[in-house]
Amino acid sequence: MSRPLQARVNLDAIRHNYQFARSLGDGRTVAIIKANAYGHGLAVVGEALAGADALGVATIEEALVLRRTGVQGRLLVLEGVFDRAALREAISQRLDIVIHSPYQLDMLAQEPEGGHLALWLKIDTGMGRLGFSWPEAAAIYRRLRAVAPQAEITLMTHLACADEPQRECNEVQLQRFDSALAGEALAASIANSAALLALPGARRDWNRAGIMLWGVNPRLDGIRHPELRSSMEFESRLIAERQIGAGESVGYGCDYHFPGPGRFGIVACGYGDGYPRHAPSGTPVMVGGRKTQLVGRVSMDMLAVDLTHLPEAKIGAPVTLWGSALPVADVAAHAGTIAYELLTGLTERVPRIYEND
Ligand SMILES: *Cc1c(COP(=O)(O)O)cnc(C)c1O
Repeated sequence: MSRPLQARVNLDAIRHNYQFARSLGDGRTVAIIKANAYGHGLAVVGEALAGADALGVATIEEALVLRRTGVQGRLLVLEGVFDRAALREAISQRLDIVIHSPYQLDMLAQEPEGGHLALWLKIDTGMGRLGFSWPEAAAIYRRLRAVAPQAEITLMTHLACADEPQRECNEVQLQRFDSALAGEALAASIANSAALLALPGARRDWNRAGIMLWGVNPRLDGIRHPELRSSMEFESRLIAERQIGAGESVGYGCDYHFPGPGRFGIVACGYGDGYPRHAPSGTPVMVGGRKTQLVGRVSMDMLAVDLTHLPEAKIGAPVTLWGSALPVADVAAHAGTIAYELLTGLTERVPRIYEND
């Protein structure tokens, strides 16, 4: 028998979540599938979402993977291009590119006019990452128009706190964005998943949905979205079971001691597969459809779960590390991180199995 660990990816769930994202607001929706489609597999997910208004990735390398697999539609590169060779590649492959820095304007100025150019001018309204600062947006826009008179231009920004919709910085960023180029009739794009769900004022011509495509609700304000469907079952099986006496320890470091006599199981899954090594004892794990918990430190290839109260769980019992019955965000919270990091951290060793409903 091969190692039982796998990530079952439901492509219909991803398409469903995309359609849900698209139903919010009147705009079009870029399906953001950077970082190997948040661990789900770039090429397969890109194909599954071929009907999307556009796909978005971080890097030109990711975009070229998608073009090679036959994705023909609009394809946005969020970090843009870093040199002229990449710019020419982007033009010849009809990529949409983000322009966030002066050196990219200079490269455009050197490029002979002609060919496809779809540019997303990025304004930093408070995120403090990529983009021209908002007070200079109008001047930069004029320069961009001058160096690329034929280009289709979309104005974009990114919110720093959209997962906390009550925070005032969201309003501040929206106001800065709206004042930056007031008077220009430009297509606009602000919202990531959290903003799309929680900040109606951020929904514009183009929205950019990433984490919600995988059924993860990014909001930290407690409001749920039952429409979202989990896209991945990260599952394995018990490969060993052991009785243990009171006070005896499990795993590296001898720092988890069973409080009384008990039983634990070993699961074929570890940090070498992308399970977070920092997940502490107590992190939820499902065994045979019932919730139990991680005990002891996570090893590279294995982890231990408490079976003391699950007498029916034997070798071969199915284990869910995260999935529809155990949100990846819950596991992440226990491990002191976010669902994004767990999903993108799934390693190559984990076979992805693709399914539909
Ligand atoms: C990754 C990213 C997104 C998608 O964010 P989610 O929180 O995953 O929806 C949108 N816009 C930009 C600029 C990004 O980098």
